[in-house]
Amino acid sequence: MRILHSGSFSGQKGLVSLKRHFKFLIFIAIVAVVVVLSAFSFTSMWEDPPIIPGSGVTEIRMLSEWLPSIEGTMLDTEVYVINGSEEGGKFLLLGGTHPNEPGGTLAAIVFVENVSAISGTIYVIPRSNHSAFTHNDAMEGSPQFFSIQLPDGSQRVFRFGSRRTNPISQWPDPTIYLHPTGATLGGGEVSNLNRTFPGREDGYSTEKVAAAIMNLVLEEEIDLVCDLHESSPEYPVNNAIVFHQDSAELAIMTQMMLEMEGVDIRLEESPVNLRGLTHREIGDNSDAQVVLLEVSNPSQGRLRGKTTEDLVTEGIDKFYLQASKDGKLFAPYDETGYPLDLRVARHVATIRVLVDSWNMMFPERMILLSDIPPYEGLVDGLGTYLNPVS
Ligand SMILES: [Zn+2]
Repeated sequence: MRILHSGSFSGQKGLVSLKRHFKFLIFIAIVAVVVVLSAFSFTSMWEDPPIIPGSGVTEIRMLSEWLPSIEGTMLDTEVYVINGSEEGGKFLLLGGTHPNEPGGTLAAIVFVENVSAISGTIYVIPRSNHSAFTHNDAMEGSPQFFSIQLPDGSQRVFRFGSRRTNPISQWPDPTIYLHPTGATLGGGEVSNLNRTFPGREDGYSTEKVAAAIMNLVLEEEIDLVCDLHESSPEYPVNNAIVFHQDSAELAIMTQMMLEMEGVDIRLEESPVNLRGLTHREIGDNSDAQVVLLEVSNPSQGRLRGKTTEDLVTEGIDKFYLQASKDGKLFAPYDETGYPLDLRVARHVATIRVLVDSWNMMFPERMILLSDIPPYEGLVDGLGTYLNPVS
């Protein structure tokens, strides 16, 4: 009896153990499916959505031409050259320094896909921190992609990336970042391309990207640099031209001319002790005049609600509307939101007027451009100025 009882007990024990094992196996299978799907989702961001150059692009070069050690890595990126038939000034336009600020990237892409040069040369880098386009910021809940509808009904897809370089390209970051000027910054800033200028050729990956861009500026004898960004509506440096002190006259003239066109924009001089930024370091280390443009982006700020693709493209958020009613914002905001069309229109108009101002001040280094999309046209629909993918 005792043996029988014991046998029955061990049979029940075996059944319980089998159930436990089965549950464990189910759990492992679910984890494996999630891991595989996440891996596919994660690596889907490694592929570059196409940029369709317009007829004005005369050459596509790679940034590694100015720093060969980044060739074949996630850091390398296209440099679109728009060369006029007549001699003139040289202009470098940077988009995607921060890939979570799509207005800057899209404005640079609009230039690549539309603009031609009559005199002078433009170098456009739409994905300046290419590695940072290949992942999202942790804990931000951002979409990986967003899309824009074209007039023919087709969609163009773009990546919404991170403020910082992908850890696959650069890890770990130090506790404190000792900038080449001797300034100390928070360790995470070593992954922020807009804190690592003028860069170090043998430094951290992000410093290498900055060094490559700096080499381009020096070797190509760039006259004018414009770096395109977006900032949250509650941030004071918003809808602004941030300028290096040597570019003050150019920035003031640009602001005055823009105001005459009805585009309200403020001026911010770059603080001398805030190191690593494009306008500060390129301005200090070359003869180029340098400005950085900010435009208000509600999908970036801390007050925002759920970060959807629609928030990125339409910029409509009830929390920002309330903040605006409470007088907490530094940019105009109402029920119509702050759409990507408007943000790109502001950037493109500011670049056009910046170049016009340059031409007035330096006629011997004229940069004459054609086919820049008009402000109103972009506000009506950015998709009109993007080329269909064949
Ligand atoms: Zn930025």
